[in-house]
Amino acid sequence: MDRSSAPTQIAISAQDIERMCRDVEARRPEEACGLLAGRFERGAARVEAVLPMQNALHSPARYRLDAAEQIRAFAWIEAQGLELTGIYHSHPEGPAVPSATDIAEAYYPQAVYWIWSGQNGAWQYAAFTIHQGEIAPVTILTGSGE
Ligand SMILES: [Zn+2]
Repeated sequence: MDRSSAPTQIAISAQDIERMCRDVEARRPEEACGLLAGRFERGAARVEAVLPMQNALHSPARYRLDAAEQIRAFAWIEAQGLELTGIYHSHPEGPAVPSATDIAEAYYPQAVYWIWSGQNGAWQYAAFTIHQGEIAPVTILTGSGE
């Protein structure tokens, strides 16, 4: 995968951010996780659907997308004519930066890794691409939704 084609921006509606935020809060103290489906447009990923998934590890410090749900979600994404644009998860007690495990297990160089941090009380978030151990920040563009 060509690094230069990885998105540097992600466009997402306020409603979809709220949807993720409700999910990460509801699953505290476990790490929450899920997929973001949408489209890639000239260096930007556009989110059109938030797909919460079970954390198969049920851990406060690790996550693994439930394998069966992931297969169903990928089929749904393809059936909608969409692409996997991102993967989100939470660090209930950690910062909004990729952990060493997140970096080691980042298998999708095109995907935006969206990380929620709950360590300061209110949820905060940041987004990155991760490719071969290299992290690049992704600018989040929030609209009111379409
Ligand atoms: Zn993590």
